[in-house]
Amino acid sequence: MKDLSAYWATRADWFSTDGREQSIKDYITLSNQLVWLRQASFLAATVLAAFYYDPVLIFMCYGVVVLTEALDMQLGRQSKAWDGKDPVEGRQILKRIARNTVISAIAIDVFIINMAVLQKSAGHFTPLFFLFSASVFAAIYNSQMKGILLLRLSIYSFAFLFIAFLDVVRYNPPLSSTVWLEFFTIIFVLYFIVDISIKFYVNYQERLKQMKLIEEENKRTKAALEAKSRFLATVSHELRTPLTSIIGSLELIDSEKLGVLPETLKPIVGIASRNGQRLAALIEDLLYIQKVEADEVVYNFKPVDANDLVYEAVESISGYANKLGIHVTVDPAEGDCHIIGDTSRLIQAMNNLLSNALKFSEEGATVNARVENCGARIRISIQDEGSGIPQDARDHVFGRFTQVDSSDVRKVGGTGLGLYITKQIVERHNASIDYVSTVGVGTTFFIELDRVTNVELESEFEPVSVKMTA
Ligand code: ADP
Repeated sequence: MKDLSAYWATRADWFSTDGREQSIKDYITLSNQLVWLRQASFLAATVLAAFYYDPVLIFMCYGVVVLTEALDMQLGRQSKAWDGKDPVEGRQILKRIARNTVISAIAIDVFIINMAVLQKSAGHFTPLFFLFSASVFAAIYNSQMKGILLLRLSIYSFAFLFIAFLDVVRYNPPLSSTVWLEFFTIIFVLYFIVDISIKFYVNYQERLKQMKLIEEENKRTKAALEAKSRFLATVSHELRTPLTSIIGSLELIDSEKLGVLPETLKPIVGIASRNGQRLAALIEDLLYIQKVEADEVVYNFKPVDANDLVYEAVESISGYANKLGIHVTVDPAEGDCHIIGDTSRLIQAMNNLLSNALKFSEEGATVNARVENCGARIRISIQDEGSGIPQDARDHVFGRFTQVDSSDVRKVGGTGLGLYITKQIVERHNASIDYVSTVGVGTTFFIELDRVTNVELESEFEPVSVKMTA
């Protein structure tokens, strides 16, 4: 009774799909990919054998092999829908793979054994070579599933042994005869096939293990990134509220509405206020990046006039420009210059470029914002006469938290996030951003966007909201 249950347990294990979904899928995928290669070899062998031996028998065997191929292809189509989760379906697929394997291996055995039997003289090179090729093919391409490979090779081994014994039984030759030499050679070849099958199987298992490790590592990295993002978002939020009230209080003190400030305190309040603003800007940038990474940024695309966009952006930074004593000019484009974009995001991008141009310029300098109509594209450039960007900084200017001069003696503040965010916004508009710069002479950043023609505008553009990820 005990023995019987152990037997059924092994049978159940044979068709258990636990943890073998990947192997089953790999097996079916590869088997389907190689169908024409297999068919070409079978057909070539069949035509050759039919010419020299019994064509009716040979083509009958070939017909059975083609039938199993058709069953395999059908199985491939059905198993595509299997997501690897339903074990019942998995077991059914496995059973059908085993059934197809048995049928096709037996058909090949019958085909080869018949050929060997029809050869009256010793030396079964052709059938043995076909069998050898079929076995090596199985060892290479069926290594995903030990059971299935074993099943096929066992059936082939039967044909190998049959041919090995065929002439020994038929002629009963002395040990010194070459019939025995052939017999031992076949045994040796059999051992070789078993050996390479084991090697291919072990290799496949190794690869599977490595893939699992990479997958797990990937999951861990994703989880760590998510935790980091959540942490940053929470901290940024928590910092924003008290910081707003600190900045407000400092501004109130600075305005002297609460009382006259002693002269000695004024510069200190000024420094505190400026640093508070800087911190607030960093928090805003961090929160924006978190939003992008959490897939929470919504873009509202609609037709926008590029001239209006630039005027609005310049207007919004005019206070800052006046404070720094920098003159900002605008050169609008001639003619129609509509683009499709999200106005507030594009202004955010342009503000980053304009505030950089102002930050890195000296008092009295000029910053120019220009819109140009370049055929199918609209080019918006922000040109300054500032410090310029060194040649070797090109690779990291658009990176996260990158500042070309991050030394303690750096004159202007910043987070190193402005250009990163700008690039994100520009790319979401299917546009490009680049710059030219000469140290000590100045920098020009330019964005190029697709121009929308009047005809396209007239064909009533439906505004679209798109969620964008980083
Ligand atoms: P930051 O907050 O430091 O301005 P950005 O990402 O906006 O960060 O810019 C990255 C770096 O690129 C800046 O720190 C600066 O060194 C350089 N940079 C950007 N724009 C200009 C410019 N117009 N002139 C000179 N350097 C610039």
